[in-house]
Amino acid sequence: MRTKDCQRCGSGRLAHVLGHCSDMCSIDLAGRHAYGYVPRDLGIGGGDDVQLTYCLDCGQIQGAFPLPPSDLEQPR
Ligand SMILES: [Zn+2]
Repeated sequence: MRTKDCQRCGSGRLAHVLGHCSDMCSIDLAGRHAYGYVPRDLGIGGGDDVQLTYCLDCGQIQGAFPLPPSDLEQPR
């Protein structure tokens, strides 16, 4: 993973982020405010950890995008 280049621009300036926030994750999406563990369907890790890799040149978060509609976006 660390040897790959950016999926968008090919830059090698990829930052790997891991934030261990447990159940103190706050997400605002689709007019909702969620607070708790990290949702697993947003492409930023899940559970206890925010985990993502992003490019310092173009800003692209590395991953399989577009993501399918997340739980937060579902009508209630
Ligand atoms: Zn890039």
